[in-house]
Formats: sequence, structure tokens, C-alpha cells
Amino acid sequence: MQTNVPGVAEVAPSAPAIEQAGPRRRHDEVLADIARFAGSSLELAVVLERIVERAAALTGADRSSIWLLDRSGRRLLPSALYGMDPAFTEGWKRRPLNVSEERLSQEVIATRLPVVVHDPTNDPRTDKTSVEFFGDRSLLVAPLVRRGRVLGTLFINHVREHYLFTDEDVATVTAIANQAAIAIDNARLYSDMHRLATQLRRSFQLAGEALAAGRDVARHLELMVQLAVDTVDADGGVIRLLDEAGRSSYPAAVVGISEGADAYRVTFPLVIEGHPRGALELWRETSAFDEEERELLASFAGHARTAINHARLYASLEEERRRAQLAERTQADFSSMVSHELRTPLALIKGYVDTLLRPPVPLSPERIRRFIEGISSATDRLRRLIDNLLSSSRLETELFTVDPRPVEVHALVQRAVNAASVLAQGREIAIQAPSHELWVLGDVDQLTQVLENLIGNAVKYAPGDSPVVVAAVGMDHHVWLSVRDQGPGIPPDALDLIFQKFYRIGDSRAPSQKEAQRQPPAAAPPGLGLGLYICRRLIEAHGGRIWAENVPSGGSAFFVELPARAVTASE
Ligand code: ADP
Repeated sequence: MQTNVPGVAEVAPSAPAIEQAGPRRRHDEVLADIARFAGSSLELAVVLERIVERAAALTGADRSSIWLLDRSGRRLLPSALYGMDPAFTEGWKRRPLNVSEERLSQEVIATRLPVVVHDPTNDPRTDKTSVEFFGDRSLLVAPLVRRGRVLGTLFINHVREHYLFTDEDVATVTAIANQAAIAIDNARLYSDMHRLATQLRRSFQLAGEALAAGRDVARHLELMVQLAVDTVDADGGVIRLLDEAGRSSYPAAVVGISEGADAYRVTFPLVIEGHPRGALELWRETSAFDEEERELLASFAGHARTAINHARLYASLEEERRRAQLAERTQADFSSMVSHELRTPLALIKGYVDTLLRPPVPLSPERIRRFIEGISSATDRLRRLIDNLLSSSRLETELFTVDPRPVEVHALVQRAVNAASVLAQGREIAIQAPSHELWVLGDVDQLTQVLENLIGNAVKYAPGDSPVVVAAVGMDHHVWLSVRDQGPGIPPDALDLIFQKFYRIGDSRAPSQKEAQRQPPAAAPPGLGLGLYICRRLIEAHGGRIWAENVPSGGSAFFVELPARAVTASE
């Protein structure tokens, strides 16, 4: 049944306001009743519906409603409406009010005190459209206050007759509002806690999963930011990570809408083992982040830190493992290459010597001479190999020293060419040098070793009949030595790489060359990839430079630049 007032449903008889029969008892009973279901586990919407119904009944009002402030504190959302025509209720429930336009609510929220309006039509604080529409004659509005915060308002409206609210009514409505506030707070706490527990558990779980996932930490960080954003209803969030040098940061996980210029923001530095590694940032347009929210976000930041640290640990473990594997493989490859390199000349020597000792047929002097030359060349190869191996290991330790003395360059070149010519097997090794003396300060054995390696390579890599030229020039306080051949040359991108330890052309995965060793290219000469590395280390220890170039007419040239030494007569 409808009343003659639009939008207002027929309710229980309104007068007298507080029931005459034992009003005090009735009042206490209703309040106790409200307190009971406010503390129950009923859904909040149901509790609030019951509260507005009881509030209207207890104060003999025609309408009663509860309005809750949203997170921004700028809007009031209708959360329970009693006494309104069901046809209107749904529509009204979707109509939030702007606090800035509601003077009555503003006052209640600001003062946290109930307000009674006895003449709504003329009172400047009321919304005239609504007063006129509902025909309000008396109003009582009480704040819903809990733990010092205003959660919303409770309206009590008398429509059918003008009603003078007594002090007792005000006290009753205030008590009801308090119960409503408790119920709202409890329900929010419960749902917040439930949601938080789930989100924190998930975030913690993600931090753990990041460990198992290893490098796919970005996805986990993104999920964590999403959880953090959801937890505090932020508009967006980001985890920024600092680069290795700690100079610039990059977004590792971004969620939500981008940050407005005047958004409130909160930042948590992610400090891992004393080093700043990045930050978790969140932003929100509507309101600043309160202390409670900051505390919560700090937990997320903690989880993010754990995830990042896990990932870093994982990456470094991986790196460590990779290095150990590589070192192990290199060691094994190296040992097998060295034994192969040692065995070949040894087998040659053994073969020659055995034949010389017990020749199957009498040997001609010519053959004997060739066998002895063969032995000499194989021992030379062995000596060079052992020299290189020793230098290589010495170069890595403190045992390596340069014993600098004045060295005459002609003599140096001649010495190296003589040593290498045994291997050259009759190939021409030409020397080009000025007639005057050139001096450098250096360790003659080490410099000979460098030249021997360069000449040895020229002989090894260039075709058998092509000449090799060793040249020396002195200019501008420097001496340049070069070794040229007419071999295959060096791919331009390998011109510098060939000076790396174990690097051999055709095997870009230095230092391992296992496969290259197993399946050598058709004519790949044997080698360890150590010679040029040693050359560079030795020359640099002498304060010089060494590099390779391709000769336009074909072949390669290796250059050594050393500081020239002005030699006094006494030397
Ligand atoms: P190894 O000769 O034992 O392999 P090196 O360090 O002396 O080691 O040389 C490294 C690589 O550089 C060689 O494997 C070869 O591929 C390339 N190289 C060196 N000298 C020459 C050269 N004169 N001509 C062409 N390639 C060369």
C-alpha cells in the first residue's frame, strides 16, 4: 500500500515516536537486538538493511537510510534505504551524492555530531529537490564514526507529520549509528583481512616461485605489483630496477594506468644486501596512502625484494655453474690438445730414432741426414710448445717478469729466423732491415719467442712454397718489426680476436675448441691458440703493441711496435 507521499512506502504506524508501552524497555531491546546482529557474521548489506529498519521503527520515522563515504571521502554511496517505495529504491541505490553539494552531510561529517532539522523546507542546509520530492518534515542525521573516522551518515526522515526530535531520540539514533559503524568497520576489516591474507599469501608465494623460475622474475614482479595495486586500490604501480652500474633505472614491471601529474604516490626502496637495487612505487588519484596502507605495501616491497634477490642469486649461481663447466671443459680440452700436440713430435722423434738404431735396410747418408733434420725439427717444435705452455702459465702468475736489457734488433731477428727455419723446411724466410743498428730494451728470450711464434705461424698457415718476410724499421723513437706471409689472411672480424687465449679461426666459441679439434677443417694445422696470446702479453709487458693486418695483395702481416732504445757507446 502506498502513502500519499511520492516515493515513500507505507510503514508501521509512526506515532507515537517511541512506543508508549514501556518505551525505555523497547528502546533497550531494539538497541540490544541491533548490537547482536551488528556483531554477527551476516553480510554487511543485510545488517545495514536491518539497522535502518529498526532505526525507523524505534524513532517512528517514515524513512531511514545509511550513506557510506567512498575511499576518496568525496562521495556518499547509498548503502541501505528503508521506507522508500521499492520502485525507487533500486534507482536511488545507484545515485551517489557528492559531499560538496550536501551541506547537511558536510556539517555532520565535519562536526561528527548529529544534526536535527525541524524545518527542512526552509533550512539552508537541506537539498530542496529531495525535501520537496519526499515531503520531508523533520530530519535527523547522525554520523557513523568508528575509530576516529567518519564512515558515513544515518538519516532519519519524518514525512507524514512534523516531528520534534527529543534529546532521547538523538541519543538513540546516535547509539544506532554507532552500532552501524561497528558493523561496517567489522565487515570491512573482515573482508580487508581476508583479501589481504589471500594477497599477501599469493605475494609471498610469488616471491618463492621467482626462485624456482629463476630468470623469469619479471612476470612474478608484475603479479606482485598487481597484487599491491589491488590491495590498496591504487591506480597503478611499478617496480623499477637499477642497472648493474646503479646509475639508471628501468621499469621491470608496470601495472595499471599511468601516473597523473598530481597523483598521490608512495615509494619503497628495494635495498638488497645493503645495495639499492630499485624501488616499488604506487600512485592513486583519489587520496593519499595512509599509514596502514604503507605498512601493507612495505610487506609487498619485502616480497619483491626477496624475489629479486632470489633471481640475482639464481643468475649468479647459473653464471658460476656455467663458468665452472666452461673451465672444466676448457681444462679437459686443453689437456687433450696438449697431449696431442706433444705426442705428434714425440712420435716422429721416436720413429726416426728407432729407424736409425735398427734400420730395416742400410740407410744412405742422405736419408740419415734427413732423419736427423726431422728429429731436430720435431724437438724444436716440442721446445716451442713447451716454451709457450710455460709462458702461458707464468703469465698468469707473479712469476712472470721481464728482464730488460738492450737488445740489438738485427741479431734478434736473425736468431728467431734461424730457430724457425728448421720448421720452414727449405722455405725462404727473407730478412729486410736497415744497415744501421736498431736497439730496443727488452728480454731477448721473450722477444725471440714472439718472433719465433709469428714466423712459425706464417710457415704453418701459408702455402708451402710462399715466401715469408721478416722486416725491421726504426722510426720516431720506435722500432717496428713485421712478419708477412702470402697465406689465407685473417677474417677482418678476427683480426683482434686471434690474440685472445685459445682463440683459433673457425672456432668462435673460444676458449673451447673441442669440436674444432675433433673435426678439424680439411687442412687445419694443429695448434693450441696460445701463441698470439702469449705474443701480445709479452709485447705489452715490454710497453709495446702487436696487431695483425691483411695485406691487400694477399696474406697477412703481423706488426710489433717497441719503444726504441738510444744506446750509449758504453753499452
Ligand atoms: P695456434 O696457431 O696454435 O692456433 P695462435 O695463437 O698462434 O695459435 O694463432 C691463433 C689463430 O690465428 C690460429 O689458429 C690461426 O687461425 C690464426 N693465425 C695466426 N697466424 C696466422 C697467419 N699467419 N695466417 C693466417 N692465420 C693465422
